[in-house]
Amino acid sequence: MFNIIKKDPESWARVGRLETPHGVIETPAYTIVGTHGEVKCLPREMLAPAKVQVIITNTYHLWLAALERSRSGQDNPPKFRDEKLGGPVNALENLPRVHDLFGQNIPLMTDSGGFQVFSLGFGREHGVGKVNNNLPPPQADSAEKNLVRITEEGVFFTTAKGEEFLGPELSMRIQEKLGADIILAFDDFASPLKDHAYTAQAMERTHRWAKICLDQKSSHQLLYGIVQGGEFQDLRIASAKFINSLPFDGLAIGGSLGKSESGAFDVLKWTIPLLSEDRPRHFLGIGKIEDLFEGVALGIDTFDCVIPTREARHAKIWTGQGSYDITKAIYKVDSTPLERDCLCPTCLKITRQELHALFKAKDQTAGQYATVHNVYFFNHLMEQIRVSIQENNFQKFKKEFLAKRTLLR
Ligand SMILES: [Zn+2]
Repeated sequence: MFNIIKKDPESWARVGRLETPHGVIETPAYTIVGTHGEVKCLPREMLAPAKVQVIITNTYHLWLAALERSRSGQDNPPKFRDEKLGGPVNALENLPRVHDLFGQNIPLMTDSGGFQVFSLGFGREHGVGKVNNNLPPPQADSAEKNLVRITEEGVFFTTAKGEEFLGPELSMRIQEKLGADIILAFDDFASPLKDHAYTAQAMERTHRWAKICLDQKSSHQLLYGIVQGGEFQDLRIASAKFINSLPFDGLAIGGSLGKSESGAFDVLKWTIPLLSEDRPRHFLGIGKIEDLFEGVALGIDTFDCVIPTREARHAKIWTGQGSYDITKAIYKVDSTPLERDCLCPTCLKITRQELHALFKAKDQTAGQYATVHNVYFFNHLMEQIRVSIQENNFQKFKKEFLAKRTLLR
């Protein structure tokens, strides 16, 4: 159940409440990434103090782990042996419930495995990400790096243990077993280096798979459809119209977003007006500061990105003025908190010089302190954005926040 409680009169921004069986997500919201069934360096008891509202975890990796556990018995599929249960089981039965991994009191989301179609396929072959700033020519031998074979029925992934299959039917069965509150349709995410013709084929496949996912769904989970079409305006428009015509509970914008950061916003400008207003909208894999403000202004309700967590583990600290590397020598003697006026558990406890020393000593608590601060920073920013929309102050807050940020660059 999604309710919009306030709209910004000067943009497409809105404040909403997304109700799930495991709690309410106040939107706009940041979805924290816990790829393998845990948020690295963020123990369960720190989720609430870091203001985490929702976590996304990864169907592909949880599925591979379940297959691995099944095979560690003896048989080949479909009759696996699970040592703990002492009998032959299907790998689906080896899947955990995601709320057992993350806690019962938090809304959870699973992706469909569709992102790995790209990241392990053409993403690897072409050496590119979602937004492709510089287009490197593929290396002569780069096709060997592509671990994915796409068919009409689904995708074969080459793993260390052989080839594994994932398609729309199986993705739905896996996601229903994992039991997240929000699940995603299985999609074909084309590389930004692919041309219009290929991207159109991948989009059509995504549309056929979207219908299969809807047909296969037998749970009460919220299923989001994914708009594809790459950087091509006509494809994005066609995909937004098609996905919006289907009875999905929410709508996600996925796929590659063009050759520059501004390409991502063009994609939103083309697609958002074609998506019905009463359904939540998720922007897949995007979450830098500018993206958040622009995305919210263009009507996005939820984001997910690895930035807060991954960068914390690499000693990059986020603040309202930009980010900095806490291992730099200037922080060796600096008794201020990670960010002035920050009320996160880390800033209330330790200073920059203490965290600098922990990173230098490779102390395992260093990544945890940094992660708590970064996750709190992004979630607190979303909270401030929600308040600013409620108070008809979003554009002013956006302008002031982004202006302040340039100081540290
Ligand atoms: Zn802090």
